[in-house]
Amino acid sequence: MQNDLHIYNSLNRKKEEFKSITPNFVGMYVCGPTVYGDAHLGHARPAITFDIVYRYLMHLGYKVRYVRNITDVGHLENDADEGEDKITKKARLEELEPMEVAKYFTDRYHRNMDQLNVLHPSIEPTASGHILEQIEMVKVILEKGFAYEKDGSVYFDVEKYNNDFDYGKLSGRKIEDLLQFTRKLTGREDKKNSFDFALWKKADTNHIMRWASPWSDGFPGWHLECSVMGAKYLGERFDIHGGGMDLLFPHHECEIAQSNAVTGHDQVNYWMHNNMVTVNGQKMGKSLNNFITLDEFFSGDHETLDSAYNPMAIRFFMLQAHYRSTLDFSNDALNAAEKGMNKLFETFNMIDDLTPANESSVEVSKFEQLCTDAMNDDLNTPIVLAHLFDLSRILNQVNDGKEKLTKEDIEFSKSLLQKYLFDLLGLKDDKDKDDAQLINYLMDTILNIRKKAKENKDYQTSDQIRDELEKLNIQIKDTKDGAKWGFK
Ligand code: ZN
Repeated sequence: MQNDLHIYNSLNRKKEEFKSITPNFVGMYVCGPTVYGDAHLGHARPAITFDIVYRYLMHLGYKVRYVRNITDVGHLENDADEGEDKITKKARLEELEPMEVAKYFTDRYHRNMDQLNVLHPSIEPTASGHILEQIEMVKVILEKGFAYEKDGSVYFDVEKYNNDFDYGKLSGRKIEDLLQFTRKLTGREDKKNSFDFALWKKADTNHIMRWASPWSDGFPGWHLECSVMGAKYLGERFDIHGGGMDLLFPHHECEIAQSNAVTGHDQVNYWMHNNMVTVNGQKMGKSLNNFITLDEFFSGDHETLDSAYNPMAIRFFMLQAHYRSTLDFSNDALNAAEKGMNKLFETFNMIDDLTPANESSVEVSKFEQLCTDAMNDDLNTPIVLAHLFDLSRILNQVNDGKEKLTKEDIEFSKSLLQKYLFDLLGLKDDKDKDDAQLINYLMDTILNIRKKAKENKDYQTSDQIRDELEKLNIQIKDTKDGAKWGFK
């Protein structure tokens, strides 16, 4: 398929022309959430970034199989393969079955993603649903000699692997540096080197999430699930693997090592990583109390927030930065984003009222190519938005009688805004929905007043309300469940 899309490949550290392995088909894997808590801005960013990639690839004509996993097992509290499984810990604290925790937070994650208008992936596999496949992959890695067993746990032998392959090629880390800088082993651990990582961990007695394996009753290491599910649903080689920059090392580096150990070659052609979100210039962290969940953003219920924010304002705010740039949240930045977004929506809603001229005084057709060029340049959404603002300004000048556009140019402008704002950038103008909510609220209030009036035998007021609503074509029906209303 012909296209001019260039994306930054973290593996080669440069922008590359995108060529899919199979013509017309793209396989894309993105690391999804670990479901032991509510989603926050840090979850919204990869979801929105790869939603744009997904939408744009489909727009280019590809059939895309988009796999985004749910991590519901094996994600230990730190990367040193120690501590408790995060989901197990939550389950213990809440006295729940771990799968109840996973289901609860998966549902909440899905709701947040819908609010952000993120398209659903094609497949959403869970780690717990692929234990057998993970055990099989551990067996193969052991057979190939790139892992060792110690007291029921299996570890990946990074030093051994590095003799045949290049460990650190994604993150640019060298094994010599890792040897020098990583924590010294305490002697109580089973690993040969501190940078070796677990493929299988023997569960201690109070670890609830456990499965039988040839080595012990235990659970798979966190990095394994993505290698396994990527291979199962997208094959030994696929096009794009995405995730947040924080996953680049060790998670993605370990995925590369596992896949190479099994097949002898790289599994992924293009690695894409979105950058991090900071809050008022600081990294997000529990101790800083700036881990603001998406629900808190949508309700305004957090001390850092000045008000509740529309989910689309969060989406727009993220699109105003390139996905590889850091993005700093502040109330001012989010308010500015919401204002800018509403301005574009207002322009879009006003286009149908423009009066066409016989000829145009300004060129608008160039915006098609400008927007395409920006998308093709590693999904440069802030530049796309800058072009849409330019177009919006022209349309407002036409509205003010300062510029002129023909009927064709007006229609072209409308379809371009429709395509970019709503189809490709995935924004949604919630104004209609807000109006409907407002009407429902007002009608409830009015019907309550009428009910009270009737209870007080104030029939004059209740009849007056009915008659006034009639004039607005709103009909009230008294039923045994109370008054119902509808438009005539
Ligand atoms: Zn992953």
